[in-house]
Amino acid sequence: MRNDDITSVRVASGYKVTVYSDDNFTGATLTKTADDASLVDDNWNDVVSSLEVSAVGRSSFSTLVQAEAYSAMSGVSTEATTDTDGGLNVGYIETADWMAYNGITFPATGSYKLEYRVASPSGGGKLSLDLNAGATVLGTVDIPATGGWQNWTTVSHTVSVTAGTYNLGIYAQAGGWNFNWFRITRL
Ligand code: CA
Repeated sequence: MRNDDITSVRVASGYKVTVYSDDNFTGATLTKTADDASLVDDNWNDVVSSLEVSAVGRSSFSTLVQAEAYSAMSGVSTEATTDTDGGLNVGYIETADWMAYNGITFPATGSYKLEYRVASPSGGGKLSLDLNAGATVLGTVDIPATGGWQNWTTVSHTVSVTAGTYNLGIYAQAGGWNFNWFRITRL
């Protein structure tokens, strides 16, 4: 859309739109939960530079799990991390190693963003996320090169999960990376 050009908005039921006067979701904001044929009376005509559409009436859910808080594993060790949150990371992850996290609850059926905090000197690693000891593979993520075992980045993918409590598995389809934490966020 063009900068500073919006005069009216349509908002579908169950959603809201927040408009921002500046780019990158900065500046003054205005939120609309229904159609508005004219933003002139809001003093918002030809002002909007960025906007955000989100669902309303739906509870948010996000949980962060430390990688070293596994219930079971194969082939990995823990070590002190110099990532910003300190504590430990999982290391010595080689191909076919895995970690399992029991009793992870997905509160509703739908899409979730899975973020993984990883470090890898040369990249080439790959993880897969699974439920119940590999019975259901939810997806895979490639691990990029970060330049060092303690140079951290966050990679993510979106997966679809049926509501329930699962034993969640993270499996190294290819090793060569360290792992500090993962976060599950409902979309
Ligand atoms: Ca950690």
